[in-house]
Amino acid sequence: LQNEKGAQSAAEKEFENNIRPQEIEDFSGQPQIIENLVIFIKAAKLRGEALDHVLFHGPPGLGKTTLSRIVANEMGVNIKETSGPVIEKPADLAGLLTSLEPNDVLFIDEIHRLSTVVEEYLYAAMEDFRIDIMIDSGPNARSIQINLNPFTLVGATTRSGLLTAPLLSRFGIKSRLEYYNADTLKKIIERSAAILDTFISKEAASEIARRSRGTPRIANGLLRRVRDFAQVLNDGKIDLEITQRALKALNVDEHGLDEMDNRILNVIIEKFKGGPVGITTIATAVGEEAGTLEEVYEPFLIQEGFIQRTPRGREVTLKAYNHLDKKPFRNSGP
Ligand code: ATP
Repeated sequence: LQNEKGAQSAAEKEFENNIRPQEIEDFSGQPQIIENLVIFIKAAKLRGEALDHVLFHGPPGLGKTTLSRIVANEMGVNIKETSGPVIEKPADLAGLLTSLEPNDVLFIDEIHRLSTVVEEYLYAAMEDFRIDIMIDSGPNARSIQINLNPFTLVGATTRSGLLTAPLLSRFGIKSRLEYYNADTLKKIIERSAAILDTFISKEAASEIARRSRGTPRIANGLLRRVRDFAQVLNDGKIDLEITQRALKALNVDEHGLDEMDNRILNVIIEKFKGGPVGITTIATAVGEEAGTLEEVYEPFLIQEGFIQRTPRGREVTLKAYNHLDKKPFRNSGP
């Protein structure tokens, strides 16, 4: 399975599943999304209906899969999980849909990667809970209609910009996940450490939170690595000193920026004198799609004040120069 989580090892996946919140109460952050979901779920349960179809979009590692499982859990139904590129043919989709019990959740990760034919079959399934399947071919070809149990499609994507209008319009609930602030990440880290039965000081949890790019997956990943250092060098106790030592050894950026973030800032400074420069030009220079830059990388850099959008393109700020230890070419933004 080739996707952005393809690089995760089995051990990492198991670790992630162990500390993944199962109940809505254990899920920290995204208050607006949670508040609304609680109401929609209650209402659907009162009516004894399937929850409306839900789309979770936003950068990787912010909890789309976690929320989908929580939705199924709260609804008291089963969840079947798959992903866009795995559903190759309409028959694959039909197989999944016909296996659902009333009001079950079908979770499709990376829903922007569905093929056009499969997507078209999905329309009728989402709207009328039926699917038309072609059987036979040539002169004997005919279509049969299969009625489905009512179900909730939960789609997840990092690239909502790639979804077609007809698919988007069939989701009654659309939620964009935001980056987490350091306080919420600290809570998540402390909860994970407790599950792992590991001591972590408040200062150490704050330090990891600050350097996790606003992302629970990164926070938990760093916690896991820091725990290794603590186990070998500090009797298993995670304090500030061992945390700073570990993060230094792991080459974790002071602000939690990743390699691509730093490449983007570097390119704007080195090749385009700090900007303003258009997103497609930056994309070509760093070898990434413009849409991915816009939906996955740029929001964090803007939120943290490394880049600003101007009518003439993107510009780095003084903070970016300072971060990369470079001298501004001219007066830059704040
Ligand atoms: P992707 O887009 O890459 O599929 P995702 O958005 O589906 O990522 P998840 O797999 O749900 O992200 O979450 C990644 C990890 O972060 C999981 O281990 C989960 O436990 C943890 N996590 C995510 N959100 C939260 C949260 N709000 N509270 C606690 N832990 C969280």
